[in-house]
Amino acid sequence: MAASTKLSSFRLPPLPTIGEIIKLYNLRAEKHLSQNFLLDLRLTDKIVRQAGCLRDAHVCEVGPGPGGLTRSILNAGATDVLVVEKDTRFISGLKLLSEAAPGRVRIVHGDILTYRMDRGFPDTISKPWDGDPPNLHIIGNLPFNVSTPLIIKWLENIANRTGPFAFGRTQLTLTFQKEVAERLTASTGSKQRSRLSIMAQYLCTVHNCFTIPGRAFVPKPKVDVGVVHFTPLVQPQIQHPFKLVEKVIRNVFQFRRKYCYKGVEKLFPEASRFELTQKMLQNADVDPTLRPTELTIPQFRALADAYAHLCMHEPSLLHYEFREELRLKPLTKQGNKPEDTFIMD
Ligand code: SAM
Repeated sequence: MAASTKLSSFRLPPLPTIGEIIKLYNLRAEKHLSQNFLLDLRLTDKIVRQAGCLRDAHVCEVGPGPGGLTRSILNAGATDVLVVEKDTRFISGLKLLSEAAPGRVRIVHGDILTYRMDRGFPDTISKPWDGDPPNLHIIGNLPFNVSTPLIIKWLENIANRTGPFAFGRTQLTLTFQKEVAERLTASTGSKQRSRLSIMAQYLCTVHNCFTIPGRAFVPKPKVDVGVVHFTPLVQPQIQHPFKLVEKVIRNVFQFRRKYCYKGVEKLFPEASRFELTQKMLQNADVDPTLRPTELTIPQFRALADAYAHLCMHEPSLLHYEFREELRLKPLTKQGNKPEDTFIMD
């Protein structure tokens, strides 16, 4: 009884619908800010449920727009919701929501790519890294145009325990284009396995929760959308600096349909390429004729270990970038790059 009274006290008073808010403030979607709104509060409730229990939680919501997802977060019991929105036009509607939930909504008019989330919450909510996650969640129906750089930035923050992860293993519940959600969660051998799969999975438990059809959004995007939940691992599966791991993964996936040795080769300058590639693959005990998509995370760990070992003996290797060398080389007659064509994930 007491619990249900407490829960009902979280619920918002009657408000204009999200559709009415959009009309009221004349919020036409801006393509350059990847604006696709969710008007169905049952759907935003479903996204919020993927985050787990939000009672008394601190939440950072990315891009609240007209505030549908924000309402669901508040109705789920979060007591401190910090929303970061780039588009000024939404601020008045968000203020209305903030008045309906006194003291529970903080509005930041800014860019999530540069916002210092480590300064946005009190230190008292921090939890030790090897303990339970803090009661802090990042939730967002992300703008497509920032979702990949944003998750890469947050994965780097996880590796370094900085930004939102200075508070501990902060969980994230985020939307991505369906194809990106599939890459983030793809297992070894699957068609979608890519650089993003390894980067996300060596640092987090990643779960592809459900797919939202494009028609659920206004305006309708060209693609469907996947909701992905991330919990940072206590112990990353690869324990080297993020930049080194990222470099190994990026190079291995440079030619994703070819044998993996083709990508490994590109970690080394031409003069020592053959010898060091052989050494690295031998030390890692990885079959050079496996395709990048067939490699497991323990095999990537072994490759990162072997590469780190070579760099310890020859530190200049760390600074070598094949793409930089390629950029400086003249083009061939046909205008092609001198080596195989890149296929980026
Ligand atoms: N949360 C709302 C919903 O579900 O209906 C809107 C989602 S819409 C896909 C993305 C939102 O992110 C828009 O409100 C857009 O203005 C905002 N946005 C775009 N780029 C941003 C950035 N760099 N930082 C913060 N917000 C951004």
